[in-house]
Amino acid sequence: MNIRKELLSLRPSDIITSYRLARNVSIEYSLAQDLLVDLVNEGILSVVIVVGCVNDEYSHSQFFYSFDDYYAANGRMCKECEQPLDFNKAKIGFRRGNY
Ligand SMILES: [Zn+2]
Repeated sequence: MNIRKELLSLRPSDIITSYRLARNVSIEYSLAQDLLVDLVNEGILSVVIVVGCVNDEYSHSQFFYSFDDYYAANGRMCKECEQPLDFNKAKIGFRRGNY
């Protein structure tokens, strides 16, 4: 299947997003997202979630490496400047595991 090929072609440093997977293998965005989340739950992919703060001058990025960490941080303030984190604009990327 193309999805398998697409994921196996990832290098360890590559980050794939639901948008990119959906486009590259011509599936619905929501299906791509579900698939990637399933693969994280199975330990095949790992997740990187980047959330910026709402600081006007410089938005600090906070990185989360699991969905649990990400959900646990909801409502938290930026560690650098104490501004709220903009959870509505989280960017979710997926990386390959060791397969
Ligand atoms: Zn900040």
